[in-house]
Amino acid sequence: MHAYITLDVDPDFTNKNKAWENAREGIERCLALFKEFSLEENITWFVNNAELEFTSRRSDYLSKMSDGEIALHLHLDRPPWSSNYYYLPEKEENIHAAIKKEKKMLESWTIKHLDAQVVSFRSGDLLTSDKLFRVLNRLGIKIDSSLPSQFDWSLKEIGRKILSYMPLSVKLAVSKILVNKRAYPTLPLGATPFMIGQVLEMPIHVYAGGSNLKSGVKWIKKRTAEQIKRGVKDLVIYWHPHEILGKERIFFDYIEYLLEQGFNFRKMGDNYWK
Ligand SMILES: [Zn+2]
Repeated sequence: MHAYITLDVDPDFTNKNKAWENAREGIERCLALFKEFSLEENITWFVNNAELEFTSRRSDYLSKMSDGEIALHLHLDRPPWSSNYYYLPEKEENIHAAIKKEKKMLESWTIKHLDAQVVSFRSGDLLTSDKLFRVLNRLGIKIDSSLPSQFDWSLKEIGRKILSYMPLSVKLAVSKILVNKRAYPTLPLGATPFMIGQVLEMPIHVYAGGSNLKSGVKWIKKRTAEQIKRGVKDLVIYWHPHEILGKERIFFDYIEYLLEQGFNFRKMGDNYWK
C-alpha cells in the first residue's frame, strides 16, 4: 500500500494579515515533521506559484521543498482569472492559457534547478470539469489529483452533489448564503486511480485539515480506515502547510498510524517516473 502526502501550498486566507507568514511557518514545520520520519523525498508539494510568487520572490522555499516533488496548484476561481470564487472560467481556451502560463513559469525553475518538468496538477478548490481535463491532456500533464473520494451519503455531501448539477446562477445564490459550500464534483468513498484520456487521476482520500481536525487525529484516522476497508491501496492525503500550526502532534500521530497500517510513502510523480 502506498500513501501520498500532498500539500497545497496556498496563502493562509483564514488570516489575511499573515497570509504568507503562516504559509512560510507551515512549510518549515511540515519539513521538520517529514524529516523526523525521513519522508522528505516522498512528499508532493502542490505549489500555488501564482499567488505566492515562489519562482520570482521566494525560490529559497522551492529549494527547501525540492527534495520532494514540485507540482502545480492553481486557483482558476480567483483573480486574475475569475473573481467568483466558485467556478472555473467558462472558456476552455482561457483555462488552457492560464494553466499553460503557470506551468511554464514553474518549470522555468524546476528545469533549471532539478532538470525536471512539472508532471502533476491539482485544481484550486477542487474545481474540475470536462473542459479542465481536456486542457490537462492537451498540456501533457501526466497526473491530476483534484477529485476527492468523499461522497458518503451525509446531508452535506448530498447537498453538494445536488448543487453541482444546478445552473451557475443557483450556485452563486447559494454561495452567498453558505460560504465555502463550493459545488466541486466528488467521487464515492473508496475511489481508486483511473485514466482520464492520457492523464492518470489520483483521487484524494483524506483531507487532514479544517474542521476534520476538530477531534484531533480521531476523524482522519477513522476516514483512513474506511478508505482502506473499501479497497484503497493508493491513499492520497492533503492539507495546507499552515494547518499544521499548533497541531503538530496530530500530524505526528497520524503519520505514525499510517506507518502502523503498513503504508509506504511515495510522491505523485513516481507513478510516471518509475
Ligand atoms: Zn488551494
